[in-house]
Amino acid sequence: MSLLAAAAAVSIAPIASGQERTEFEQQAREIYRNVVEVRSARGHENVPKIVDYVVGELKAAGFSDEDIEVTDYDNDGEATQGLVVWYRSPDPQDKPIALLAHMDVVDALAEDWVREPYKLIEEEGYFFGRGTADNKYGVTSLVATFIRLKEEGFEPTRDLVMVLSGDEETGMVSTRAQANWVAEEVDPAFVLNADAGGLGLDDNGEPLDYGIQGAEKTYATFELTVTNPGGHSSAPRADNAIYELADALKKIEAYKFPVRYNDLTLASIEAAGRKRLDRLGNAQRAFAADPTDEDAIEVLRANPATVGQIGTTCIATMLRAGHAENALPQSATATVNCRIFPGVGIEATEATLKDVVGNEDVQFELISDLVESPESGMREDVLAAVETALEARGVTDVDIIPHMSAGGTDGMHYRNLGYDTYGVGGAAAKQNDTFAHGLNERLLVSSFYDGLDHFYIILKELAGPEEG
Ligand SMILES: [Zn+2]
Repeated sequence: MSLLAAAAAVSIAPIASGQERTEFEQQAREIYRNVVEVRSARGHENVPKIVDYVVGELKAAGFSDEDIEVTDYDNDGEATQGLVVWYRSPDPQDKPIALLAHMDVVDALAEDWVREPYKLIEEEGYFFGRGTADNKYGVTSLVATFIRLKEEGFEPTRDLVMVLSGDEETGMVSTRAQANWVAEEVDPAFVLNADAGGLGLDDNGEPLDYGIQGAEKTYATFELTVTNPGGHSSAPRADNAIYELADALKKIEAYKFPVRYNDLTLASIEAAGRKRLDRLGNAQRAFAADPTDEDAIEVLRANPATVGQIGTTCIATMLRAGHAENALPQSATATVNCRIFPGVGIEATEATLKDVVGNEDVQFELISDLVESPESGMREDVLAAVETALEARGVTDVDIIPHMSAGGTDGMHYRNLGYDTYGVGGAAAKQNDTFAHGLNERLLVSSFYDGLDHFYIILKELAGPEEG
């Protein structure tokens, strides 16, 4: 999950003390503690420690050597690993389901945190620690669920293949390789990602809605460069690399990419609008009803939280130019980061930008390693399974809303290869409560335990024998 965390005041939830936990809950908490306490950030090469630990737990639960595959990867000089675990069906009736989570984290520095980041600390009704939300709860949920099902003797009606990546937050070298491998060796019916989606709570902890991630925008970064012979600043020439680049950027600033939408974004915009009575809510509802509504488009475009939901965005993020205060610039380069709407394509976006700039002296270079991913059409069986899992934890009156995120999970690599991929995480969080990638990352303790049945129920629904 590439959520940029916003800092917010720490709200204090009541502590559920002295509560009896089942054996399974205790076991899951122990897995959680063990994976959170490994500093699996880039620069430390610790992902193999998590793999070793998880493999040990899985083997103890009855998974055999043939079910477990550990692969070494080199993420730009950094050693990491990926783990694949097969839960085989004795008599497969359907194509497999692939299940994703990632073992690495964005690094956290102890001096910046209130508590030790690589220690699982339970306090104020929260579990604190780097990865408690992103994505070690996902890893814990999947591993604990596989162990629980195996120990119960569950026989799935289709193969379940758990795929844990080792560098989702950085190079995605393991992700890419695993996605290709899954396409060749598993060819799943669909993919479920534990690193996206989840239950939204209001400030009182009451469920608001459940979000399923069904699409991600394509992340693409361009460098725009203007070069010039330069010269002495006491003898300016008519053309100037900085002015030319500035003109190009002002044109990009003024340009609005066409409005785009699909069933998934219309549904999520409508659902977001249903909860608001303000101007933004009105615009969201109006846009969902009529995506050509100019007034609504204007409101959605003006809001940083909604502009990305209605089309491609490209924005200048960095600048470097010139080499001396008394010399004419020989080169000027701007970085422009785009979030491309599904289906638009990188080439078309680059062509649009070139058109907008209208100056062949501006050189474009694509510098990001990108992956285009179409949106995944919603599946009734997946939606029904999620609904059943929510009902089991007493959440019955919330909408299940597909959404598109700004891009950045393992899921996009699977969508890129043609596999419908759904972010269906089991955690529940208040708005601004996860602090993924940020300081003092945390997960509600109640959410940790309530969500432990989530994948257990989903997998029984999707891969269990028909009942009665
Ligand atoms: Zn993540």
